[in-house]
Order: sequence, then structure tokens, then C-alpha cells
Amino acid sequence: MSHNQTPAPARVLGRAIMRGFIGRCSACGRGPVIRGYISPVAACSVCGEDLARYQTADFAPYLVTFFVGLVFTPLTFVLSLDETLADWALYATIAAALATAFVLLPRTKGAAIGLLWALDVPNT
Ligand SMILES: [Zn+2]
Repeated sequence: MSHNQTPAPARVLGRAIMRGFIGRCSACGRGPVIRGYISPVAACSVCGEDLARYQTADFAPYLVTFFVGLVFTPLTFVLSLDETLADWALYATIAAALATAFVLLPRTKGAAIGLLWALDVPNT
């Protein structure tokens, strides 16, 4: 390697996933990995890492659906058994489930990109 080349960043799994979860590039941790609500960027605007190689398809929605279902389905079921509970409590629980899904989706998308990047599993 010549002295002019920047060494390739270490692909540390947990760090890459956490960087993606907070919406940052898995390689440098500075550039955004998502633009708009959930569109992945093609390349990092800071370090130039080619992120278009790591396409997560529906993995993030599957994870979010699994998590929200795991938490809110039993909660909604238990709340619905309580006949003294006001109707709004059930509606609030459903609204909280939807809000959780909307908040988690872009973060999970970034984390999924970080996972693929750390494992260096391009699918293009
Ligand atoms: Zn970067």
C-alpha cells in the first residue's frame, strides 16, 4: 500500500449497526445513510463509501413488524380483556404501535445497511 491511500475502515459489526441506526454512514459515522424518510443514499457524502452495494430490500420492515407485533400484540390483547378500561386507552396503544413503527423504520433501515456493510455482503 502506498502512503497516499487511506486504509479501508475496519468493519466492526456492532459499531456499523449502531452508526446505521442513528442514520450515519457505517464506514465513517459522519455522512447520512438515509435521505428523506427512508431512501438509502448511493454513497456517503463525507467519505465516499459506496453504500448502493448494500440493498436491504424489505428486511427493515420485517424487523419492525416483528418487534412491534411482539410488543404491542400481547399488550393490546391484555388491555382488551380489562372491561373497566376506557376505550381511549386501547386506541392510544394502537396509536403508540403505529408511532413506534414509523420511528423505528428509518433507523432499522440504516442498521440493516450497517449490518450488510459490516459483513461486506453486497448484493449488486
Ligand atoms: Zn462515510
